[in-house]
Amino acid sequence: MYLKTERDPEGGWYDRYVQLVDSEGRTIEQLGKHPTLDELREIERKHSVRINLWQQGLVCYECGNQINKRFSSTLEGHLLCWDCATSKEPYEQGDLTVNTDPTKSVLSESKLHEKSLCDYVINVATGCKHGCRFCYVPSTPAIKNRDRMLEKQAEVENPQEDWGSYLLYRDDLPERTHNGLKETDFSDWKVTKRGRGAVMLSSGTDCYQDRRAAQITRGCVHELVDADIPVRILTRSPNVTRDIDLFKKSDGLVTVGMSIPSFDTSLVKALEPQAPPPQARWEALDEMFRAGIPRFVSFSPTYPTMDRDQIRETLSWFEAIDPEVVFHEPMNPRGKNFEMCLEATREAGYEHVAKDLERIQRNDQWAEYAVEHIELVQELANDFRNVTVHSWPDRKLVNSSHGDTKRKLKNMRKQVSPESFASQGRF
Ligand code: SF4
Ligand SMILES: [Zn+2]
Repeated sequence: MYLKTERDPEGGWYDRYVQLVDSEGRTIEQLGKHPTLDELREIERKHSVRINLWQQGLVCYECGNQINKRFSSTLEGHLLCWDCATSKEPYEQGDLTVNTDPTKSVLSESKLHEKSLCDYVINVATGCKHGCRFCYVPSTPAIKNRDRMLEKQAEVENPQEDWGSYLLYRDDLPERTHNGLKETDFSDWKVTKRGRGAVMLSSGTDCYQDRRAAQITRGCVHELVDADIPVRILTRSPNVTRDIDLFKKSDGLVTVGMSIPSFDTSLVKALEPQAPPPQARWEALDEMFRAGIPRFVSFSPTYPTMDRDQIRETLSWFEAIDPEVVFHEPMNPRGKNFEMCLEATREAGYEHVAKDLERIQRNDQWAEYAVEHIELVQELANDFRNVTVHSWPDRKLVNSSHGDTKRKLKNMRKQVSPESFASQGRF
């Protein structure tokens, strides 16, 4: 299927009717004049196809130039050519500042094979509206080194402190993924034992955080699956269930995971202020379970206040959705954001949590809590038939441990997660 445009004889050059037609030129849908990006992406979803929006005769809503290469859209979804898109002032959407992300990269090599997650990542946006207080992303070079771009595109004064208040979309990422994969020599593709050559969406943002991000994600996943590349999706957003049809078609090549640190809704809300509640995330995984989609849980980060009973209860919820693996990681008090994390728990009335967080700012206290939680989660998982835990001990934690503990932690870092999702793929 492709798009066909016809000039309105009564209108100007850029005044065009758009139709979706099949390979024999038969009209499938009439899309009227100037369909929005949202309408175009939803047409793809409805017919389960991918339509490259480049060179389909679509025109920029503002200047009338043809969309022949990069594009983006206005907040209302009107298509913009790259020149118009990159010269736009940011939009305000509630507390969020929104604009186009000029980033050129599509796929980035990733070190997340160390966590047995992937070898590559695709980030569908810069910024993340969830604004989790403990998020490490704003302290990474991907954000810290782009302060000038963020200032220009979203008037961001302090990328770390303002984390959660800006979001720059990469609308044409599916088109760029398509082209990038066409030109890829797969003999050069990085395939580590723990990363399986998989691509993860997303490590630096939530790829299903809203409709626009979800539409970009769907296009990218479609392209990756078409190229037989295993895909790992990690999100906090139940929106992910909108793509169950695509995951089903991928025949085991896509695994879907949710980050669920705890089921204490108000505490999670204090630390992840804009993210959907943990129960809703669990329900999305339950839908994956019922649809037979490979799934996993990221039990991360476990709060230092969680005791044996709370951890056991949380694992029992995980058992019910029969995940291929539960990744576990204790909290790591790094970066300036941890101070914000402390503040947020205090403001939410969780003084005892704040005290514990303060305590683990001391390295020895952190190491003690982190090792205790890793061991506890592993021990308790043994009580459940369907729960296999893959721990993520931090390198710093290994270095500050000794003897048997050090050996055990080191060994955990070398493990391959027990998942089978990539076995059908090209690698
Ligand atoms: S959802 Fe992920 S990327 Fe977004 S703020 Fe939370 S931890 Fe960071
Ligand atoms: Zn334009």
